[in-house]
Order: sequence, then structure tokens, then C-alpha cells
Amino acid sequence: MTTTTSAALPRVGDRLGRYTVQRLDALPEMQGTLILLTHELGARHAHVVRDDDNSAFGVTFPTVPRDSTGVAHILEHIVLMGSQQYPVSDPFFAMLPRSLNTFMNAMTSNDWTTYPFATRNEQDYFNLLSVYLDATFFPLMRYESFRQDGHRFEFETPDDPTSPLKLQGVVYNEMKGAMAAPGAVMWRAFGKALYPDLTYANNSGGSPQDIPNLTYEGLRAFHAAHYHPSNAFFYTYGKLPLERILAEIEAHVMAHFTRHELDVSIPDQAAFAQPRQETVTYPGSDVERGAQVSVAWKLGRSNDADANLRWSVLSDVLLGNAAAPLTRPLIESGLGAGLADLSGYRDSFREGAFAAGLKGLPAGKAPDVETLVLDTLREIAERGIDPALIESSLHQFEIAQKEVSNAGYPYGLQVMFRLLGPWLYGGDPVTGLRLETELGHLRADLAQGRVFEPMIERELLNNPHRVTLELAPDPQLAERTEADEQALVTRLSADFTDEDRSRIVAESLRLKELQAQESDPDVLPTLALSDVPPQVPRVAYTQDQAGRATVARVPQPTGGLSYLDVQVRLPDVPSDLLDTLPLYAFAVTRGGAAGDDYVALARRIEAVTGGISASVGVGTRPDDLSGLRLSVTFSGKALARNAPALVDVLRDVIATPVFTRERLEQLLKQRLAGLKASILQGGSAYAERLAAAQVSPAGAITEHFSGLSALASLKGIVEDGGLDALLDRLNRVHALLLTGTPVLCLTATESDLTLDLRPITAAFTGDAPVGAPHPESAPHRPQARTTDSPVAFNAVAFRTVPYTHADSPALLVLSRLLRSGYLLKEIREKGGAYGGGAGFDTREGVFTMSSYRDPNVKRTFEVFRDARTFLDTELGVRELTEAILSASKLLDPLTSPDTIGRMRFFGDQAGYTPEVQDAYKARLLAVTLEDLRRVMATYLTPERAAYALVTGQDPNEDVRELGLTFDVQAL
Ligand SMILES: [Zn+2]
Repeated sequence: MTTTTSAALPRVGDRLGRYTVQRLDALPEMQGTLILLTHELGARHAHVVRDDDNSAFGVTFPTVPRDSTGVAHILEHIVLMGSQQYPVSDPFFAMLPRSLNTFMNAMTSNDWTTYPFATRNEQDYFNLLSVYLDATFFPLMRYESFRQDGHRFEFETPDDPTSPLKLQGVVYNEMKGAMAAPGAVMWRAFGKALYPDLTYANNSGGSPQDIPNLTYEGLRAFHAAHYHPSNAFFYTYGKLPLERILAEIEAHVMAHFTRHELDVSIPDQAAFAQPRQETVTYPGSDVERGAQVSVAWKLGRSNDADANLRWSVLSDVLLGNAAAPLTRPLIESGLGAGLADLSGYRDSFREGAFAAGLKGLPAGKAPDVETLVLDTLREIAERGIDPALIESSLHQFEIAQKEVSNAGYPYGLQVMFRLLGPWLYGGDPVTGLRLETELGHLRADLAQGRVFEPMIERELLNNPHRVTLELAPDPQLAERTEADEQALVTRLSADFTDEDRSRIVAESLRLKELQAQESDPDVLPTLALSDVPPQVPRVAYTQDQAGRATVARVPQPTGGLSYLDVQVRLPDVPSDLLDTLPLYAFAVTRGGAAGDDYVALARRIEAVTGGISASVGVGTRPDDLSGLRLSVTFSGKALARNAPALVDVLRDVIATPVFTRERLEQLLKQRLAGLKASILQGGSAYAERLAAAQVSPAGAITEHFSGLSALASLKGIVEDGGLDALLDRLNRVHALLLTGTPVLCLTATESDLTLDLRPITAAFTGDAPVGAPHPESAPHRPQARTTDSPVAFNAVAFRTVPYTHADSPALLVLSRLLRSGYLLKEIREKGGAYGGGAGFDTREGVFTMSSYRDPNVKRTFEVFRDARTFLDTELGVRELTEAILSASKLLDPLTSPDTIGRMRFFGDQAGYTPEVQDAYKARLLAVTLEDLRRVMATYLTPERAAYALVTGQDPNEDVRELGLTFDVQAL
């Protein structure tokens, strides 16, 4: 792992094997260099040299579907189900525990498919490279894989041809779930409405009624055409030697192909003569608040770097914050609760798009929203945009260019996605990484006069290529979809002969047989336990005491940004304020402060910071699961030159927030709409919290903060009135907060660490001791919550032991073993759910198992219950080593300059010191199979189990045989 950058960069025109260096571009903001190469076969390769341990890779193929069978998406699943050199059933999942990767995934967008990974270990990089290249270019694409993950007929009792026929398949079920989520329906409808003649009119993920039309031959042909070097965009990043990477790709891939031509270009969409109206529906019953309306325009080509930058800036000016000139009138109209999904500028189509609208409104409001959007834009164009707002937005771009963070994606992959945008559409990839030329043009034009107002006139107001798109809930749709599915099954099977029926039985049995077969993962490369770094990273910081406040200062190469966290440890919190804390954290940075209203505060935040936020947390002691502590943490970042202004903003928000009834009502509606929309995305996490709340004190609080209970309590306030009482409680929280104990952490470049933090520390005047909450666990009874969902999210939770207990590392290893060795197989492969897993929260001491977008309830709870028998099967050193490797990854999360110091400091403060963490790791590396069996028998017992699920209907009939009775509540 000590390879350094090859000292000399290649030069333009250099030949590296069959590659030619086309371009070299310095990337001064990120202190890197972009090298662009082409291969004789037509493959393009972008390599970013940068001094970052976390190397990255991605291979991307333009995939342009011509129908909605989901061919590109199903192919993405199937290439990851065994390849020539690695003929195991699931090399991707099998590699997860044999690797120390920091990212592994595959993604299908509307016109490309990408396979990225990142890792900090050199051996691991070349292991993963080999697996990824073999999977994408030489997949087995077995017929059985197509049936398992694509679609298949199966009898309800697979070996009984007289039982009802059903359609099955991982992607089939995944898309049934996805197309029930309003966000996904909106995204598909958006592409179709704006570009009805192009590939975007198709559902690239696959619509459930079209998926059965995909044939096995069609799938193979799509692979042969698209997953070819001549159609590939390779990306590599980091400090590993480029020559070695290229040689690997040459030997593994290029040497086995000849050049081939494929036209994947996307033409221009013919312009509309007149604006259009469209309505689409999703299965939902919230007819009062479940609709949204978006007014959308087609713009110019998204690979035009100047236009792209201008639209990004204008979009931020118009919609970037609560005070923005288009956002504010939309929200203050009271028509809806929040901005519609997809509001803003999108460059993820070949021709860009801009949209604005509202969600959280009753159906039939499309004309009102359209009028409001158009009138507001007209007014903005006529009145002119305040130059200060444009400056604020440009300042946001400066932050985005300078910031080096692994938040969300590893930085190396963020760079890939920035570069792919223009690159895949034939533009210049470097424009995604450095904007100074385009910024120069823009600044010069701004000096000459108005730039954005004419854009609004020309490209929005006078542009007939506009669609007003309404997304409305349809309470009967779920039922009709079921009926349609039945009709489809009946139609497709109408001519089945007895022979066909026995073939279906035989194929089902063959699939089950294959799924039960152990493939030999030892053909896959792996790492050893000795590759795990024995120590967690040490981070230097200074710490001092200022009155009640503890202040840490962490020097880090932050690219000129300063990050500040203010954690306030709360005194004892009266129980009626517990539900109020998350609402406080949500509202406090979105309201006003220091006598200013929310508009003034939002403008100030946009002008001098890169954003501020507040969150509420529950901490546990390393040695005691009942030793809890509550805190509210305020965080913000800014360019170092604005750091004193950031301090002032945070002080005002902490010391003198302003909550008004009117603003609060807007915010609560927004939050309620957001939480509701998150149920189907985060169903498993909600079910896990609901289960954990029954067995863990920290879990019970978390359920109040961010679980379905938080949703219920918020719904109560919004729908039954209760704003005045809430205002009163918010003010009580504020008073309580100022008597808390502040702990500050500043992360910045060494020379920026002297920042004066006294304006903040001086705001805390009380002397109440830090509180020690003793929450009641929720009643230990199975809990079901029903909502509009065709699939279920099932969970079970067990209370175990605190962090320093000797059994904790074994429980963490057990969670990884059950996940990869048992639950994925049983719940995903055999059960047809999109996902299944196990988790162990080392700090809360809660062990969970769960399923995601699951067609089953009873079967899955049986799978959870039978987890014990899995440990009695033949398990060996390999399974154990993999589970330990996989667990050790969780102890070494990917950090970046913005996070590493705060994690270390707040960890130290809570007792999770490097010594405590190193000891944990040492015990983890020594866990035995015997330990796993013992902790399983000790802690994961039926008496300790707490059950919960989120589903479409009352589950009690289904689960009666299991002896479970759920409390059922509708969401
Ligand atoms: Zn998928």
C-alpha cells in the first residue's frame, strides 16, 4: 500500500500499449491532473491522478433502451451473477466480505449503466478490478439467472401445477415496489413528458407490465451490443500507477475483442409547438395532500459547458433556498407543502430541463400551480434579479469546487460523476471538473448587463416546449394493478399445455436446486485478516476549556473551508418535550434569528456559508446501554474568509431563534410530506426502529426522533391543530438548550484555526448538569404499520450488550455472517425480495434482521426464526474470515478532512477513545465460530425477539401459524 504516483506524467501523443494519450489537464482546485486516453478499439479512458489513498474505478456504458422491458436494469443484475473466470452465483455479494472496499455498486440510469468501486488497499483494487472487468465483459448470463432476477412463471406451490400461476423475479418485484413510490413515478413521467420521442419515454428500470416481454435472447443481444470496449468509458482515480491499470485492462478485456460500431447517440427531441398538460397517477389514498404539479421545460444541450453553468447558477438563484425568488412565492402561496420533486435544473438528459412546482396538494391544482410559476417568473424577469443573490450563488459554486469530502460518495467517485455528465453526451469531460473558463465568461457577461433575466424570457416564458405535469394519487390503482397482473398472467398462460406446465415445474425445481448449490467462492480473490489495519486512525487536535464549553481545534487539509460543530448536551428533558426535539432541530435553522425573519436569515446563510444544519442525537456509554445522553448539534461550513460570519450566524440561530406560527406551519407541512415520501424508500429502517424501540432505551428515543412515531406525532400536530402548543414547547426547548453544556469542534487548515468562538460559547449561561434520560421502552409486542405498499418491510430486533462487553465483537461478526451467508440467499434469492440483511448497532447494542421490498411476511419471519439452524451447518475458516473482514470495514469508515477530526473528537468525548476502539478491533480479529454459536444461543432467543413490519395490509391472518399477533395501525 505504499505505491506512489509515477513521478513523470505521460505526455500528449504518448502510446501506452494500444492506448494513446489525447489530453492532459491540470485540475488546480483539487490538486490533480486529468489524463484522457483512447484505445485502438475505441474505448475512452479518463484517469485522475491525485494524492488520495482511496483509489476509484468505474466502467460506464451508454445503454439506450428502446422499450420498457427493463433490459438495461435486468442486465445490470445478471452480469453480477457469475462470469467466466469467476463462475460463482453472486460474485458481487461474494466479494463484499472478501474486500476492504469503501464503495461497490452498479447503477442503471435512463441512458447509461455504470459499475464503480473504491478501496484504500492496493491488492484489493486489483482484485476488484479483475472481478468487475470479468463481470461486465464476460458474464455467464445463465438462463437460470435471467429467470431468477428477470422474470419467470412459478406456481404458488412450485411443484404443484394445479396451484395458481404467479409472475416472479427480483427486478420484477423491485420495480413493482419502485413504481408504487411517487418519486419514482414522477421521475419516469418527467422524461416521458418532455422527450416523448426519445429513449427517455421508456422506463429504463422496467415497468412491471412490460418486463415479461423481455426474452433471454434479447437480453444477450443487448449485452453483446452495449458492453463492448468500443462503447465503454473507463475511469480511474488515485495514485496507483496508470500503466499497470491499463495493462490489466488490456490483458483482461481488450485482447479478446475486435472493434465494433454501435450507434447509441440520442437525437434532438422535436420541439413542441404548444405547451402540454399531462397527468399520471400512483397508488395512494392521500387525496388531500398526495398530489404534485411540476412545470417543466426542455432547454438546450446539456453538454454545452457555458449553458450548463448558467443554468446551474440560475437554478440556484431561483430555487436554492427558502428565500429564493421563485421558492418563496410558491411556498407562501399555501397551495402546497413543498417544492415538487425534480424542481431545478437537470443535466441528466442529453438536452437539459428546468422544472418548478409544488407537492403536498390536492389533485386538480395544475392550472393554479402553472399560473403561479409563470406569473412569478414573469415578474422576476421584469423586475430583475438582485445582483447580491447572483453573488451568493456564485459563492456556493466556489465552495462546491473547493470542498474535498467523502460525504455521500467517495470523493473519487464524485469526480467521476461530475466528469461523466458532459463526457457521455459528447462534451468535454474536463468542463465537469473545472469551471474557471466558463465562470470567466459569465462574470464578463454579467459586467455588461443582465444575463439571467433574458434566459428566463427566452428559454422559459417564450419556450413552447413546456409540460405541466401533475402526479396524483389514485386509491384504486393498487387494486387495478393487481387485476392487471392477474389478467397478464391469464393472457400469457392462456395457451399453456400440460407440457408447458410441467416445464414450469421442472424449471422452478431446477432453479431451487441451483440456488441451494454451494458455489465455490474460493475462485474469487480475497484479502487476509493481516490486511486489516490494527489501529483506528489517530487525529491530532488541541482541546481547551472556555467556561462551561469544551473547544477542540483540528488541523486538516480542507481546501480552504472551515467546518464548525456545536454540540449542546442537554440537561434533563421533560418527557413531553421529547417529541419536540426533532421538530426544534428541523425548524431552528429554517426560521428567523436575531430579530430577522426567515427570508433574511436564509439569504444570510446563502451569502456567507455553505449551509448550516441542526440535528438531535442520543448517545450511549461504551459500558452501559442505559447510560444515555441527549444532545442537539448545530453544524456549518464556510470559506475561511467567511468563518467569522459563520460563527455569527450559528450564534444567532442558537441564542435568538425566531419561531412564527406562519412559518412553522409551512415547515411542518414540508416535513410531513418529506417523511411520508420516505416511508417506501426507508421501509426497512422504519421497521427496524419500531422493533428496536421495544427492547432498547436508546432505540425507544430514536423511534421518537426519527421513527414512525415521529411521523404520527407530527401528523397529529399538522392535522388536528396544535401549533400554539407546539410554539410554546419550542420556546421551552430553547430555554432548556441554553442551559446545556456546549462542546465545539472546529476543523480547518492550520492557519485558520485561531477563529474566535466566544460569540457562541458566551451564549450558554446556565449551570444545569448534563441529563441522564431513562425512557420507557415501547411495549414488547409485535407492531405492524400499514400504508399504500404492495410489498412488505419486515424486521426483528434483539437487545444485547454494550460496546465494551466481550461479546460485542462476536455479535458484529455474526451480523455480517448472517447477512451474506444466510439472509441474502433466503430472502433475496429464494424469497424474491429486493434485499435482506442483518445489522448490529455496536453502540446501542441492538441486533436486527430485516427485509426490503419483500413479497412475503410469514415466510420471512420464519427465515428470521430459523437463523439459528444456519449456524449448525458446515461453516469453516473461510466463512469466518470473510465475516471478520466485512465487520472490520465497519470499524474503519471512510473519512475525509471534513469528518475525520469531528469523529475522533466526539468519539473521545463519549468514551470511544482510540484505545477502546483498538481493543474492540483486536477482539474482533480473534472471534471464533464457537463465539458466534454462543452469542447466537445467548442473545438471539425467541423471548428476546421484538417484531415489526411496514406493509400494505393487516398481516395477522398470514402469520397466525407462527404464533405472532401484531398491533396494527394505519399510517
Ligand atoms: Zn435493481
